[in-house]
Amino acid sequence: MSTFHSLGLEEPFLQAITDLGFETPSEVQLKTIPILLEKETDIVSLAQTGTGKTAAFGFPMLQKINSDSRTTQGLILSPTRELCLQITSEIKQYGKYVPGLNVVAIYGGASIGEQASKIKKGAQIIVATPGRMKDMIGRKMIDISKIEYCVLDEADEMLNMGFYEDITEILSHSPQDKSTWLFSATMPKEVAKIAKDFMHAPVEITVGSRNVGAANVSHEYYLVNARDRYQALKRLADANPDIFSVVFCRTKRDTQKVAEMLIEDGYNAAALHGDLSQNQRDLVMKSFRTRQIQMLVATDVAARGIDVDDITHVINYQLPDEIETYTHRSGRTGRAGKHGVSMVIVSKSEHRKIKAIEKIIQKSFVKKDVPDGMRICEIQLFHLANNIKNTDVNHDIDSYLPQIHEVLADFSKEELIKKVFSVEFTRFFNYYKNAKNLNVDASSVSEKASKNSVRYFINVGRKDGLEWMDLKDLVRELTQLDKDEVFHVDTMDSFSFFNTDAKHSEKVLEAFDGIQFNSRKVMVEISKEGRRKTGGKGRKRGKDNYKGKRSDKGRDSGYSKFKGKSRRKSGKPNEKGTGGRRRRR
Ligand code: ADP
Ligand code: MG
Repeated sequence: MSTFHSLGLEEPFLQAITDLGFETPSEVQLKTIPILLEKETDIVSLAQTGTGKTAAFGFPMLQKINSDSRTTQGLILSPTRELCLQITSEIKQYGKYVPGLNVVAIYGGASIGEQASKIKKGAQIIVATPGRMKDMIGRKMIDISKIEYCVLDEADEMLNMGFYEDITEILSHSPQDKSTWLFSATMPKEVAKIAKDFMHAPVEITVGSRNVGAANVSHEYYLVNARDRYQALKRLADANPDIFSVVFCRTKRDTQKVAEMLIEDGYNAAALHGDLSQNQRDLVMKSFRTRQIQMLVATDVAARGIDVDDITHVINYQLPDEIETYTHRSGRTGRAGKHGVSMVIVSKSEHRKIKAIEKIIQKSFVKKDVPDGMRICEIQLFHLANNIKNTDVNHDIDSYLPQIHEVLADFSKEELIKKVFSVEFTRFFNYYKNAKNLNVDASSVSEKASKNSVRYFINVGRKDGLEWMDLKDLVRELTQLDKDEVFHVDTMDSFSFFNTDAKHSEKVLEAFDGIQFNSRKVMVEISKEGRRKTGGKGRKRGKDNYKGKRSDKGRDSGYSKFKGKSRRKSGKPNEKGTGGRRRRR
């Protein structure tokens, strides 16, 4: 069996490894460390998140630099401030027995002056985010003209985040003959381009197959109606009482909305997205790391920095637009050798995406049913029993015990157990006793959607810079409807159409009431109701198609109907408010 010693690492590092509790090298460490120690070469190393890449480049770099010199010899670029800090702290630990070692983190959102003065004292290794690094090189605060090693960590993420230019600029200040070590979880063509542009005959190392999800993550999906997404999320959380999870949403708005609903419903949740200040983000991440938050609702961009081990579940509240992103999401769990579950809540219309993702991750999804109410009650009951069993007695209650005994004197152990459990059970039971089955049978959803659907006319279109996706987003933003609840969106030059289920029509019309777009009053009217039975596939698009319809009285009557009518007021109670809310827990 290979050991860190047999990889060629020297004593101070072996000592640090023992302190860290690493027993055997991970695969990427096995494959990378000896090469980097033995020769001066460029390398492209592909391995999933959580496989120990930091140590794979950290130890060789530490062993190769000269800590007696104050010259900056190694540069590590990483995509986010969180990762930058994390890598810095890891490298410091790896090098804790190297006298004179100085590792400095350079990142945005903190005092540039302080960072510059740390650099001045002589940093052999700099760990940096590209933006701030470029800035400081530009201001001559950092000199990387003598570096020998440059690591591009999480290269795919850096490119995703648009750092190509910054990286180019930074590297132009570094020597030609340095070694460049690129680490990445995936190898999109942008990364291949970096390898081609900035590296010379790199050794290539791949751990596992490219793009493939981590081996110890299982993938599940739950098929529900789009409108039941949130209910399904709650059930998944309730069915996993010890959940420690990241819940992914597609937009900042949804992220915020879902987090708020969860908090209102008594879950330990928080939102993480780009509209938060760095301070807020730090606070959220701190609460997450310390487990005060069990459900971190995040956008893909915001979640890039999350490097927390022990995440039990990744929940895809909505699938990402780019299915490639799924690999990154699911890679947040199953880290450091632990098992993780990646769950996807899908509606019928997204069902086919599951197949596409299976191809990418080269693993099969398991279709599972959203647990029903009784199953959840049962799980919670046993969870409580176990909690009681494992609770250490707090002796501060001792002085109260005689009175408590008195109060409960008449009950047998049997009766007491029944009562204690009823306290907890009743809460869940009451909430779930009339809960419906959320699972969708694999047919008929889209049928139903179009049968009861309403078609709307809206007086904005491409001229206003709206493609159909934009219009869909706009409608969803104003109505808070789910992705699948707004469909058949067709954008023309100066007007457009879209559909929703008939039951949402009040909501839609109200949502647009008084809305202006490009300083024009937006008008939405019902174009026609409940018919889109166009024989075949039904999806009509394009100009020709539209022209035919222009004279269609559907539109005209719809228009006058809207105008002639006083503004619709909500007769029915808002659907959002109905249904039992669960008590805080
Ligand atoms: P990656 O960069 O590939 O996403 P990290 O370098 O962040 O992964 O490592 C993930 C976790 O695994 C960290 O907590 C790290 O300390 C731990 N780790 C790394 N190498 C080993 C090892 N050989 N044995 C045990 N744990 C390790
Ligand atoms: Mg890493």
